[in-house]
Amino acid sequence: GFKCGIVGLPNVGKSTLFNALTKTAAAQAANYPFCTIEPNTGEVAVPDERISRIAAIAKSKEVIPTRINFVDIAGLVRGASKGEGLGNQFLANIREVDAIVHVLRCFEDDDVTHVEGRIDPVSDADTVETELMLADLESLERRIVQIRKRATGKDKEALTILPMMEQALALLQDSKPVRLLLDGIAAEDLAILKGLNLLTSKPVLYVCNVSEDDAATGNAHSEAVEKMAAQQGARTVVISAAIESEIAQLDDVEAKDYLDAMGLEEPGLDRLIREGYGLLNLITFFTAGPKESRAWTVRRGSKAPQAAGVIHTDFEKGFIRAQTIAYGDYVSLGGETAAKEAGKARDEGKEYVVQDGDVMLFKFNV
Ligand code: GDP
Repeated sequence: GFKCGIVGLPNVGKSTLFNALTKTAAAQAANYPFCTIEPNTGEVAVPDERISRIAAIAKSKEVIPTRINFVDIAGLVRGASKGEGLGNQFLANIREVDAIVHVLRCFEDDDVTHVEGRIDPVSDADTVETELMLADLESLERRIVQIRKRATGKDKEALTILPMMEQALALLQDSKPVRLLLDGIAAEDLAILKGLNLLTSKPVLYVCNVSEDDAATGNAHSEAVEKMAAQQGARTVVISAAIESEIAQLDDVEAKDYLDAMGLEEPGLDRLIREGYGLLNLITFFTAGPKESRAWTVRRGSKAPQAAGVIHTDFEKGFIRAQTIAYGDYVSLGGETAAKEAGKARDEGKEYVVQDGDVMLFKFNV
């Protein structure tokens, strides 16, 4: 599955957030650095109102949301790129994820130690980013020597990847993350960049962990982070990990009352999960029937057979065509039969690029 890695300095609230996300005590929150040693992975349902509307129309017995994974990654400290703290472990774990959720401490609390001794989330972000950039710089500088040599010898593979490597190296030498290359990148270049598996080429979402009182409004710290993120073209979510861990223990009615009292419309985690989903460049398609209505995930740009393959590998191998109804048509017309009568149920073939919200029915050979 698709993975978002939760990273940040020790004691910023990563484990608290992860626990709330997965509603388990698997990642123990504790007031000391290095408490999260093993990477913990949790599968999380993606909140999406569309699925219950589809299920109501299709009169489905079951409603099954789609899911993404969050990984709680061991605390990073200054010097990690030189193997300090759990540095090497941290870098190895972060290589495995598709996107980074970077938690920043924006709450004041004298009882919770800050590793740098002061609350300054923009500087914390810089500390973490610097470690990632140093690790990338070191690994690129090491690898590029060989590639340059092979490129001089007209080695085809080396000639293909060298320009991307040089661009990435130039950015890192200028203390900038490789992520900046992602903006408007061509598909072939993106594949090359991914192949380099650099830490700072992964998309980032900043999570500002604020105190309960600031959850609805944000505070000066979170505003500073938002400004920094905007300059990088990154997104931000303001959340109170403390509130989220409370809500995680309540039933739906209690949770609603609690949110109202806090002046919040929905749990911050719902926003976080949706933003994480967007960060991974994922879209949702649906299958609907009396047994179940279900949401499924594919990468944006996937074609119909790949979507079929998410459900079952046999569906992909034997793919013939996909009856496809846009979500808007499905809901406004009132379901499959009506959509067919209105000519809104399209028969799509192998080359069809799946659109977010498509309600699909696959025809395949076995
Ligand atoms: P991690 O090291 O980043 O995983 O941080 P933890 O989730 O273990 O949290 C470290 C300490 O900060 C724990 O004692 C938490 O209870 C506390 N903490 C986490 N989030 C908040 C918050 O939003 N407000 C306050 N006051 N304390 C928090």
